[in-house]
Amino acid sequence: MRQPVIAGNWKMYKTVKESLEYLSNFQAEVKNEGVETVLCAPFLALSALTEKAEGSGIGIGAQNMHWEQEGAYTGEISPTMLKAVNVSYVIVGHSERRTYFSETDEQVRLKTKSALDHDLIPIVCVGETLEERENGNTQEVVHQQVVEAIQGLRSKEVSRLILAYEPVWAIGTGRSATEKDAGDVIQWIRKIVADQYDQQVANEVRILYGGSVKPANIDSFLSNQDIDGALVGGASLDPDTFTQLVKAAS
Ligand code: PGA
Repeated sequence: MRQPVIAGNWKMYKTVKESLEYLSNFQAEVKNEGVETVLCAPFLALSALTEKAEGSGIGIGAQNMHWEQEGAYTGEISPTMLKAVNVSYVIVGHSERRTYFSETDEQVRLKTKSALDHDLIPIVCVGETLEERENGNTQEVVHQQVVEAIQGLRSKEVSRLILAYEPVWAIGTGRSATEKDAGDVIQWIRKIVADQYDQQVANEVRILYGGSVKPANIDSFLSNQDIDGALVGGASLDPDTFTQLVKAAS
């Protein structure tokens, strides 16, 4: 049985103070029984959040990292630095990073491998643009992104990571994929993993859906056997709303 994951991606929202206030409210409400609950916060808030979340079962994640341990990379944060403040997860290859910061499949691969080497769980994002979907290229695009991201990993490493299918046209637009469309692509991703590794690894890897997930549609996504949870942007910013999403998966 794959444990469901509900991960919030706060993006570039919340100061340290706001992050801690959120966590107080969230901790008071949420009982994350049977659900792996993750908050991916801006770098500055990570240290305070992991300290406050200790023992609560709420995992704290970063939204990006460099793949090197250290070096002359102005403005970057390394996996070692994240581990030093007890961060457990890191989002890799989010479409906003691919689009606005020109992140490539090769960089996504390096970051995924480095995260695993440093005992962080990467949440690796893949997904097609609207144009790619309309041209019938969804499977091909997702295939390339998944294969490149997990290339060279050992089976055990693939079982540990989390994949997130996030169609770019559904992110922050209010226009979510249907449960059927999301389920079909996630089934396709599982098949890619099975082809690259084996069926056991494919059965173990968690694959989330992301893109305009909210309390009104989470049940339908979770009703699909192939969808192991959600990566949530906008609806994770308010602790009450995010609590509803975690409860839906409990
Ligand atoms: P959204 O964002 O829930 O606001 O659509 C999802 C994401 O970017 O991970």
